[in-house]
Amino acid sequence: MKRREFVGGLAAATGLAGCAKPQADCAAQGGESVQTFAWSCVTSWPPKFPGLGMAVENLAERIERASAGRLKIKIYGGGELVPAFEVFDAVSRGAVEMGHGASYYHRGKVDAAQFFTAMPFGLNRAELEGWLYYGGGLELWRELYEPFNLMPFPCGNTGVQMGGWFNKEINSIDDLKGLKMRIPGMGGEVLRRAGGTPVILPGAEIFTSLQTGAIDATEWVGPYNDVTIGLHKAAKYYYYPGWQEPGPGLECIINRTAWDSLPADLQAIVEITCQSITTDMAAEYTNGNAIALQQLLNNPSIEVRAFPEQVIRHLKEITTEVVAELMARDPAAAKIGKAYYEYLERAEVNSRISEQAYFHTRKN
Ligand code: CA
Repeated sequence: MKRREFVGGLAAATGLAGCAKPQADCAAQGGESVQTFAWSCVTSWPPKFPGLGMAVENLAERIERASAGRLKIKIYGGGELVPAFEVFDAVSRGAVEMGHGASYYHRGKVDAAQFFTAMPFGLNRAELEGWLYYGGGLELWRELYEPFNLMPFPCGNTGVQMGGWFNKEINSIDDLKGLKMRIPGMGGEVLRRAGGTPVILPGAEIFTSLQTGAIDATEWVGPYNDVTIGLHKAAKYYYYPGWQEPGPGLECIINRTAWDSLPADLQAIVEITCQSITTDMAAEYTNGNAIALQQLLNNPSIEVRAFPEQVIRHLKEITTEVVAELMARDPAAAKIGKAYYEYLERAEVNSRISEQAYFHTRKN
């Protein structure tokens, strides 16, 4: 009996490193510290899609490795278990433990959540991370999701996106009128007020919609992802910059009850691994976008163009109105928006004399 207690104590103290026996034996000896968990994670992405979908595959693989198999997560692409845009509800009601997607897909349900993905003309990737991790943004996000029984974690960011693919030239604000474009989040509302018709489609449906003419234009992500789904074969004009998504952050959401069931060390592994995915994705997109853009620039049937300044100015004016209205009608958006724009004001002064000034010197 004494020996058995000693062995159990040793297993508990050293975790799996001190346990070479099958899982059931280890669990019996080590108690709670070797309890295993099998979770399901639903996503808004096509399965194993480069960047977005692979990030969550990597998340699961890293968590399993870091936890020595104690937390296993099975990933489902959008539509495999629940539709791409029902991730929030599925995790909230506990149908699955985890989800990966973008908080601006919950527009109409939790309008204020859009601030945590991207706002048109808002924070870029580095600034958003500064706000979330160090500037109080994540605390506001957790507070917003609490009534939904959800814990959000920043988990990936694509960096500044492209303005999108258009089947006609955009020379003035009149060219936006009547334009049917796939564009989610606040950007879609801005386009609507500019006279266009915003459409929300999951990534898997964009190519066919553009190719068949069901939509006239689409934004998706940037060169790396857009080439993967073949958008360069469905439209000629590729406009920049992605005013609508200057650095969208992705989210990993965890059902609160499932989160509370994890021991503290597994919680730490999940939290740290989510942050590692944000770093990893930035590197993947920096590399992948540069390679894919080169291919597009070398393709004679594609024209990569900047939006005319007049168009950008007009979209920016509408954005100011749309954001003011959102903050006026939604108390949560008012609170989060105030914090967001105060942060932006401060961050921009610094960004202007650092990144922006540096890029300017390198170019000249
Ligand atoms: Ca996008």
